[in-house]
Amino acid sequence: MEVSVCTNRAILSPCGLKNIDYQVDTYIGCEHLCYYCYALEDAETDWSKEIQIQQNIVDQLSEELDTISPQKIYIGYQTDPYQPCEAEHRQTRKVLQLLLQKGFSASILTKSDLVVRDIDILSAMNAAAVSVSVAFNDDATRRLFEEHTMATEKRVEALHQLKGAGIRTAALVCPIVPYISDAIELIDMLVPCTSEIWVYGLSINDRSGENWLRVQKILNNHFPDLAAPIEQVLFSKDHPYWTELRNKLTALKNDHQLNLNIHL
Ligand code: SF4
Repeated sequence: MEVSVCTNRAILSPCGLKNIDYQVDTYIGCEHLCYYCYALEDAETDWSKEIQIQQNIVDQLSEELDTISPQKIYIGYQTDPYQPCEAEHRQTRKVLQLLLQKGFSASILTKSDLVVRDIDILSAMNAAAVSVSVAFNDDATRRLFEEHTMATEKRVEALHQLKGAGIRTAALVCPIVPYISDAIELIDMLVPCTSEIWVYGLSINDRSGENWLRVQKILNNHFPDLAAPIEQVLFSKDHPYWTELRNKLTALKNDHQLNLNIHL
């Protein structure tokens, strides 16, 4: 993986999420290479070959933060802040140190257990939060759809460590691939390590889009019997698969009083 340096890009940008006004992406590109990723559609570079880091991210972000009041900043909207190159380049850790120093806090979304490295900073912030997303129950399937992510078990273990350190955790079961992801089993794994779980189906709207073509190739090569049924479900929001799953999850939520947010 080539990691190149870029300059002159705004680092702080508006965030469309509820109750969070600003976000920071600590990398340009994401080597996790999830083949369903909507961000891959608009990528400026080939993420399988090149990731970019902003030169002097701390100095520039420091100036940008001086224009707003201390608040929670979202990290992980377009790219994963704990993708493998973070272990060496530590852009995310530098940003977190700066946020802490200036009285800001962070809300992080990642698919990596590397986030536990930064528990020391996160636990010193005011109400920092970490969300971890999981989608696949077995590791071989996970590797097909998300080539360079961490195993689901490692992500769940990271949530346990974060929760144990007193950091607010949430989990996303996302994206559910019909007939492949077992959402109920994933939720069972997550309940002990987080009190807030969000569930989303794989969202692909365009049969000519690159993310569908990539997913379709995986299905044809590895799940030939399921490829056509999965395509039918994905392109039909009213498909009985979704209704049935929604009903099962609603029953689970009610029976166990879970903070389960179902977006199917
Ligand atoms: S971790 Fe997120 S941003 Fe990175 S490739 Fe996967 S879905 Fe896209």
